[in-house]
Amino acid sequence: MKIFEYLEKYDYEQLVFCQDRATGLKAIIGIHDTTLGPALGGTRIWDYETEEEAITDVLRLSRGMTYKNSAAGLNLGGGKAVIMGDFNKIKSEELFRTFGRFVEGLGGRYITAEDMNVGTQDMAYINDETDYCVGLEGKSGNPSPVTSFGVFRGIEAATEEVYGSTDLNGKVVAVQGLGAVGYGVCEHLHKAGAKLIVTDIRKESIDRVVNDFGATQVAPDEIYGVECDIFAPCAMGAIINDFTVEQLKCKIVAGSANNQLAEPRHGDMLVEKGILYVPDYVINSGGVINVYEEIKGYNAERAMARASNIFNIVKQIIQISKDENIPTYKAADRMAEQRIENVGKTKLKYLKK
Ligand code: NAD
Repeated sequence: MKIFEYLEKYDYEQLVFCQDRATGLKAIIGIHDTTLGPALGGTRIWDYETEEEAITDVLRLSRGMTYKNSAAGLNLGGGKAVIMGDFNKIKSEELFRTFGRFVEGLGGRYITAEDMNVGTQDMAYINDETDYCVGLEGKSGNPSPVTSFGVFRGIEAATEEVYGSTDLNGKVVAVQGLGAVGYGVCEHLHKAGAKLIVTDIRKESIDRVVNDFGATQVAPDEIYGVECDIFAPCAMGAIINDFTVEQLKCKIVAGSANNQLAEPRHGDMLVEKGILYVPDYVINSGGVINVYEEIKGYNAERAMARASNIFNIVKQIIQISKDENIPTYKAADRMAEQRIENVGKTKLKYLKK
């Protein structure tokens, strides 16, 4: 892999390799863009087959955070970190503290948080060595309720666009994945009078939503083809693909799952089918909004108010999509890029004073 060529192509600022023989730490921190503020993004542990795979992952994810943070209107840039190895074998106090020292060494250019296979105790060790971390126990806490509320607000915005009103009473919503976020989304939808068709691979999760909200359950493979107004994917990524798009009978796709489009062309296929897609990184930004508030001194009400604003952000994206005749997934990117460009110019002006 020609690393500098790749960094230049997407204009990455920094790629940091962290190695420590004593603890076995092999980590890579990617900082994509800090125009809007410090690069924030989680640290994940993954047993990558090759170094190249780890580099590609951290680069892709850190750039994704630039777009997510910008679109959410946060004063944060995009970053991410990966620790290479099998988490069952490598996790230790020393490893996380050593990683924390590397993060501290970046002087605040990168702020870390939990991600796959990194939990609150691990973050506490990182925090022993650096204050540049968020999502700590006793601070902003579990982000899922804020994410669920943001998804609900995004669904309301899309509903207004397609049906002329935010009223969800009687609308049929198919929800895939009834975990931390999916359950909360169902709760908001139920309160708003929506009818739920749900699925999960865990029976307990389905039973809970059927009992609590009177939802109708279907088998995991059946969720794509059900007659509904809105499909809300809240489980795994790449769920909008060649196999599923053909089956969809909804008018809106809006859910919390990350990286929903298997490939960009699937976003175009949704447009062709007359389905409004609410870009994943915009509608699920409640989680990052929640930790952002932690940096400023956590206030739950302010976090919820900011997540509520996802409604307006989604409306703006839909407007850009209509004005420029481009799919919403491209409109979201354009909005995020535009904000970075605009704020970047302002900074330059202040410096010149
Ligand atoms: P979770 O693990 O609590 O829930 C996921 C649920 O999906 C589980 O109940 C699981 O059994 C179910 N599931 C897995 N495979 C399935 C399948 N094939 N069919 C049906 N159900 C299946 O995770 P979560 O925190 O609720 O997150 C859900 C999605 O939202 C993920 O893609 C996550 O990356 C994304 N997300 C979460 C947050 C957050 O604040 N938790 C923030 C942003 C994005």
